[in-house]
Amino acid sequence: CGIVGYVGPRDAVGVLLGGLKRLEYRGYDSAGVAVIAPGGALRTAKKAGKLGKLQAELAQHPIAGAATGIGHTRWATHGGPTDTNAHPHLGDDGKLALIHNGIIENFADLKAELLAQGLEFESETDTEVAAKLLGVEYARTHDLREAFRAVVGRLTGAFTLLALHQDEPGIVVGARRNSPLVIGLGEGENFLGSDVAAFVEFTRSALAIGQDQMVVITPDSVTVTDFEGQPVEVEPFEVKWDA
Ligand code: GLU
Repeated sequence: CGIVGYVGPRDAVGVLLGGLKRLEYRGYDSAGVAVIAPGGALRTAKKAGKLGKLQAELAQHPIAGAATGIGHTRWATHGGPTDTNAHPHLGDDGKLALIHNGIIENFADLKAELLAQGLEFESETDTEVAAKLLGVEYARTHDLREAFRAVVGRLTGAFTLLALHQDEPGIVVGARRNSPLVIGLGEGENFLGSDVAAFVEFTRSALAIGQDQMVVITPDSVTVTDFEGQPVEVEPFEVKWDA
């Protein structure tokens, strides 16, 4: 129900937890984060229940100094509110993580296809299908934006999706269809959020992403395209309300 993405010099876990806190008003049943830890490994933490559970987990197993990350609060639609069903979900190689708000309507067909290819699933979510498919596409393309574009082109339904891969640190990719996603522009850092509350503490400068568009953020760049990869114009706006 809430989504945050971050690339930049701040401690990613802190930025993500702060953003998820600000999105709490939307309601949720589980929360999780995925970051590229210093040294380059993907690390995740996820818990059913309130943000406090995730914070306690992260206090026990801290992930300090990550510069790239994604954070999620879940409102379960497919699979109950359990630790395993909480996002992020991982690709087959364990090197990429994906989070999702919405419903992937054709997940059953895609899951059948992936099971037939020998892939295994941990959760009962529609979301894990997109994560596993992204792993398959990454193995084919070795390029996160390419792989992500191939995945979003195959999904039907409603989705805000963010993903990252440990072999491409410093990049978060996102996409939206029938579900919101906005970009927060910083200096030497950039943000993504399901609404501006996710990053309003850090920047008031934002870009609206249109329907069926995807975005790649790095600390110094923001690139928005349609699902075919063609560049599109995006509308800048200033966040007006008080943080
Ligand atoms: N359909 C997904 C799930 O049940 C995402 C739900 C959400 O929007 O948080 O895990």
